Amino acid sequence: MNNTGSPTDLQELAWINGEFLAPAEATIPALDRGFIFGDAVYEVIPAYAGKLFLLQPHLQRLARSLEITRIPNPKTDLQWRTLLTELARRCGSHDQSLYLQVTRGVAPRDHAFPDTEPTVFCMSRPLPVISDQQLQQGLSAITTEDIRWNYCHAKTTSLIANVMLRQQAVDAGADEAILLRDGLVTEGSASNVFVVIGGELITPPAGEQLLHGITRERIIQLAQRQGIAVAQRPITEQQLHQADEVCVSSSTKSILPVTRLDGSPVGKGLPGPVWLQLWEAYQAEVQAFGDQ
Ligand code: PMP
Repeated sequence: MNNTGSPTDLQELAWINGEFLAPAEATIPALDRGFIFGDAVYEVIPAYAGKLFLLQPHLQRLARSLEITRIPNPKTDLQWRTLLTELARRCGSHDQSLYLQVTRGVAPRDHAFPDTEPTVFCMSRPLPVISDQQLQQGLSAITTEDIRWNYCHAKTTSLIANVMLRQQAVDAGADEAILLRDGLVTEGSASNVFVVIGGELITPPAGEQLLHGITRERIIQLAQRQGIAVAQRPITEQQLHQADEVCVSSSTKSILPVTRLDGSPVGKGLPGPVWLQLWEAYQAEVQAFGDQ
């Protein structure tokens, strides 16, 4: 929406252990379990015109990720809200991406849970700008086997499988990897997946094999409001390849069209009408939110 900001806007700022500082200066002890085990959860929350968008569902998902991994929630929702609002405020009025991470804390290396305080780290960076080329030409994706574990609904920092899958896409000259488990679409390496078949918008049901994306949920609601038929049901590999449209959603991308899949065009090979309707509805909402 607005990523230029004012000349006084800070481009990046971190918060760790009660102190605001430049991200490059933020350090974590090597024995932090986030570093040693990837024993941590995280959230990414967009802020439009400096205002946190859909914060409550992000905090609810954070609480759920902490519950699943049995990491104590170190803050109340009000404390999270106060901290994140202050971080965004200090950065200014541009569009931001707020990252927060909670690790199980610093302790001698041992797999079993230690009796220690969680580590909290937050940072703000400018929200990546979506280019005209991405909107006009769409993204390219490959399909690949979902090699991840069975708790994909928890937003954990143990992302090595996602990292490897995304790199597989990059190595193939593509933007995103769309993951398949037992022949069914789960999600992207860092996004949720929607397809359009015969005018119906379909996304895989929210189980343990995919992240319950905040944007995914919002897109479903917007589609219903727009009168688009929406279903949450499994998508086979064949349906994915034969879909009229494929889209991916995330808090930083909103919703983007995938126009090439495994080297072949999706539908007509151009961003489709259902994507466009959803993109416009989402942008209108973000704009109205920023203007409030
Ligand atoms: N799935 C995965 C694996 C992701 O990493 C993301 C983005 N963090 C999403 C889905 C989209 O979630 P959200 O809309 O909440 O950003």
